[in-house]
Amino acid sequence: MAVVIDGKEAAASVIAAVTEAAASLERETGVKPGLAVVIVGNDPASHAYVNSKSKMAKQCGFNSIQHSLAEETTQEELEELVAGLNADPAVHGILVQLPLPKHLKAEPVILSISPEKDVDGLHVVNAGKIATGDLETGLISCTPAGAMLLVNRIHGRDLSGLNAVVIGRSNLFGKPMGLLLLAANATVTMAHSKTKDLASVCRNADILVAAVGRPQMVKADWVKPGATVIDVGINRVPAPDKGEGKTRLVGDVSYADTADIAGAITPVPGGVGPMTIAMLMANTVVAAYRTAGKTAPRF
Ligand code: NAP
Repeated sequence: MAVVIDGKEAAASVIAAVTEAAASLERETGVKPGLAVVIVGNDPASHAYVNSKSKMAKQCGFNSIQHSLAEETTQEELEELVAGLNADPAVHGILVQLPLPKHLKAEPVILSISPEKDVDGLHVVNAGKIATGDLETGLISCTPAGAMLLVNRIHGRDLSGLNAVVIGRSNLFGKPMGLLLLAANATVTMAHSKTKDLASVCRNADILVAAVGRPQMVKADWVKPGATVIDVGINRVPAPDKGEGKTRLVGDVSYADTADIAGAITPVPGGVGPMTIAMLMANTVVAAYRTAGKTAPRF
């Protein structure tokens, strides 16, 4: 049976380190990290995510500021709010919850966030830094940063000689994940919907990362025996066994049978999911350290 990689425990240890780093920054410089979270519209799932981010920020000892804007907010109003947050010295991190309502364009909003405060790591400046191998001076997208931390727990920081396959090439996850694995010396294949014979590409992976958004697509016979499997997918599927109309969360990997083959595997829920919010807090404290002219801690 595979080692089950405990994302909740890993996230809790990041949160403990962030809380300590925030307290020590405030003690030494008077700077209290500030995270501003912006949400537009009434999507209940997005509100739940934003509330848990704001709550975690408070738990870490940050100033937590939440801006809930009406569904009919215009592009100009949203960008004006971001401009105000960019100029506010008490705010070190800005997160605009995605997806935005359909009439708003996400890309110009992301580009309007100051790269130094872009704690989601989605600004082209931060994406470009990872692409050019600078993992020190920017802010790294939270989910790939968290997934990488779980990989490091199994393999250490140097992945020399290991083959990694990432399924999915989104800007949010797949691309930065591939670049982080490459920076750690893995030999990386990025697979996607046009990849031919995906199963045999995956069977070559010592580290297999799935971020597709298709429930249980990766089967046990796609996995090399002993491989590390990182399941990023979060899919809600019907669960009639739990009662009528009930649902459950599953990943992109068929967990039960793959756990017999893999060397290590992340569960869903409780694997990569909790790491995303922990790395958001880590990015915020890093941004605050930089503003205060102090060397930022590494997580
Ligand atoms: P996305 O933007 O929809 O990208 C999905 C990727 O999967 C695309 O690159 C697509 O290829 C590829 N793909 C789709 N069908 C495929 C197939 N049959 N075979 C191979 N590749 C296929 O999604 P995302 O934002 O990266 O998210 C992916 C999953 O991760 C989702 O389930 C999401 O909920 C989850 N997620 C979780 C967290 C977390 O906190 N744990 C954070 C972010 C995302 P093309 O590029 O060719 O279309």
